[in-house]
Amino acid sequence: MITINEHYLKLQASYLFSDIAKRVAAFQKNNPDKDIIKLGIGDVTKGLPPAAIKAFHEAIDEMANDATFKGYGPEQGYEFLRAAIAENDFRSRGADISADEIFVSDGAKCDTGNIQELFTNDIKIAIPDPVYPVYLDTNVMAGRTGFFEDGRYQGLVYLEGTKVNNFVPSLPTEDVDLIYLCFPNNPTGATISKDELKTWVDYARQHKALILFDAAYESFIRDESLPKSIYEIEGAREVAIEFRSLSKSAGFTGTRCAFTVVPKECAAYDRAGNKHFIHGLWNRRHCTKFNGVSYPVQRAAAAIYSEEGKVQAKALIDYYMANADVICATMDQLGYEYVGGKNSPYIWVDGKMDSWAFFDRLLATAGVVCTPGAGFGKCGNGYIRISAFNSHEKVKEAMARLSAAFSG
Ligand code: PLP
Repeated sequence: MITINEHYLKLQASYLFSDIAKRVAAFQKNNPDKDIIKLGIGDVTKGLPPAAIKAFHEAIDEMANDATFKGYGPEQGYEFLRAAIAENDFRSRGADISADEIFVSDGAKCDTGNIQELFTNDIKIAIPDPVYPVYLDTNVMAGRTGFFEDGRYQGLVYLEGTKVNNFVPSLPTEDVDLIYLCFPNNPTGATISKDELKTWVDYARQHKALILFDAAYESFIRDESLPKSIYEIEGAREVAIEFRSLSKSAGFTGTRCAFTVVPKECAAYDRAGNKHFIHGLWNRRHCTKFNGVSYPVQRAAAAIYSEEGKVQAKALIDYYMANADVICATMDQLGYEYVGGKNSPYIWVDGKMDSWAFFDRLLATAGVVCTPGAGFGKCGNGYIRISAFNSHEKVKEAMARLSAAFSG
């Protein structure tokens, strides 16, 4: 008899985006003439930078020719891309990361989801609330949690992000072994200072714990005092793995290219307390289960690190952040409290009512779609996430409608 992994049965069905779609469809049916503006989804809307497109085309032409054709490439990624990443994303900011510590992949979703398989099932795990749901669900699938009760999985330590701590969770009061952090955060848009991040690195060093640092939104950081990488913090190389993605930084959500950084000193322990370096283990996993990102995609990604590529990618970020400015200004004017939006494409608004009630109100009165915060964890209730990923015109129109509907 074929039996299933029963941990999958513990998973809560994710109704968030299908519920949103249903409510939007019902509203559209009753209001066929209303032009609905979607500021819900976390997907980019603008085309790839021209430098990436040019490199993409050239690489495809290379694939057409026997002399320049590429078959299987190195699983960890081509040297030209790994070297460009190490230099531009890390060394130029004083973070000591070398090309062979970069593992190129087809997404930070896969990497943040897969990394947990390197560790035993009886470790204590700390996961932020609210947060990107992949960290939670992949640990449920692996059997590291109990059942879902009262809005939470048993056996996990939830790191609560609330108004009181400005959505930067405090250190856990009990010992934990694996810590997920995500800054700038999805969904709150909250950022962490170097001093705050240092307390996490120090905690991990003291407790022989490991930090999984998801920096998928680092390119939206405008405040130069904020860390873009955890490796800007002293001592992080031994205790932190970092995840990055070109999805939001260069419009690659549909093109697929990301990477994980595993410094050579970064370690975990066997039951006897012997130290093992994670770099070799992750390399083994990566080579066994993954056959590399396609050559043209890696060429397109490398072009983002060229001089014109950097300028064009920054223009993309600036475009979305100008939208974030408009959203923040509208929230200020309407007197809504929020975090995010300054160094993040997400604005996390205190709706002062149930998340779904606020979602319905926004849709009914302004024809604007947001994401109810409750979909990202228990601490998200009462909040909505507004995304800056849309055109200037649509964002301006959405905010004008909100102002008209909500003021007075
Ligand atoms: N990490 C966070 C926090 C995200 O919000 C997302 C996507 O929305 C990802 C990772 C996934 O990125 P990728 O497109 O590289 O899989």
